[in-house]
Amino acid sequence: MAGPIKLKFVLSGDHVDRLPDVGPEVCFVGRSNVGKSSLINAVSNRKKLAHVSNTPGRTRLLNLFEFDPRPGGLMDLPGYGFANAPAQMRGSWQKMIEGYLLERESLVMVLVLVDGVVGPTKLDLQMLDWLRSVDLPHTVVATKHDKVKSSIRDKRKKEVAKKCQLEPDDVVWVSTVKGVGIDRLRGMIRRWVSFG
Ligand code: GDP
Repeated sequence: MAGPIKLKFVLSGDHVDRLPDVGPEVCFVGRSNVGKSSLINAVSNRKKLAHVSNTPGRTRLLNLFEFDPRPGGLMDLPGYGFANAPAQMRGSWQKMIEGYLLERESLVMVLVLVDGVVGPTKLDLQMLDWLRSVDLPHTVVATKHDKVKSSIRDKRKKEVAKKCQLEPDDVVWVSTVKGVGIDRLRGMIRRWVSFG
C-alpha cells in the first residue's frame, strides 16, 4: 500500500514500562532540530501530528503513535544533545532513551536522523556506535536534502555515509520541504513493521 501512513497519537510517557504495546514499532532518534517532528508529520501527511518547533529540546518524553488501523507504531524519542540543558537533565534523558531502546520488545528498527547540512555530529556517531554495540537494527536518515546545494550533493552523500561507516546507498536522504525520499521511507517503514 502506498501513500501516507495513517497515525494516531497514543500517549507521551517517561518510562518504557508505561507504554502500551501497539505492535511492531519503528523509532525516530536524533539531536534536537534535526527535523524529526517534520519527518513524522511528512510520513503521516499531517501538519501538526508531531510538534514542530524551532526551540531545541522541547520534546522531552517518549511520544508513541500507532498505525490506524493497527498493528504497528512509531516512537518519537526526545532529541538528544540539547546544548543548554543541565548535565543532570541530560543524564535523565539518556536513561529514558536507553531504557526504551534496550527494553522495548516490539522495537523493529531505529531510524537515526542526521542533519544533511551539518553532517553527523559527535553525538550521532556515539549513538550509532552504541546501537552497533548492543546489536539493534538501525538505519541512517539524512534530513534537509533541499538545503544541500545540488552541486555538492554527491560529495556530501559520500561524506555522510563514510562518517557513519556506511555505503552511500545505505543512507536514506529526505526533504520534508521538497518531499524527497518520503515515499521511499514510508515503504521501508511498512516493510519493517509487517515483517517485525
Ligand atoms: P526536531 O527538533 O528534530 O523535531 O526538528 P523540527 O522538525 O522541529 O525541524 C527543525 C527545523 O528544521 C524547523 O525549522 C523545520 O522547519 C526545519 N526543517 C525540517 N525538515 C526540513 C527539510 O527537509 N528542509 C528544510 N529546508 N528545513 C527543514
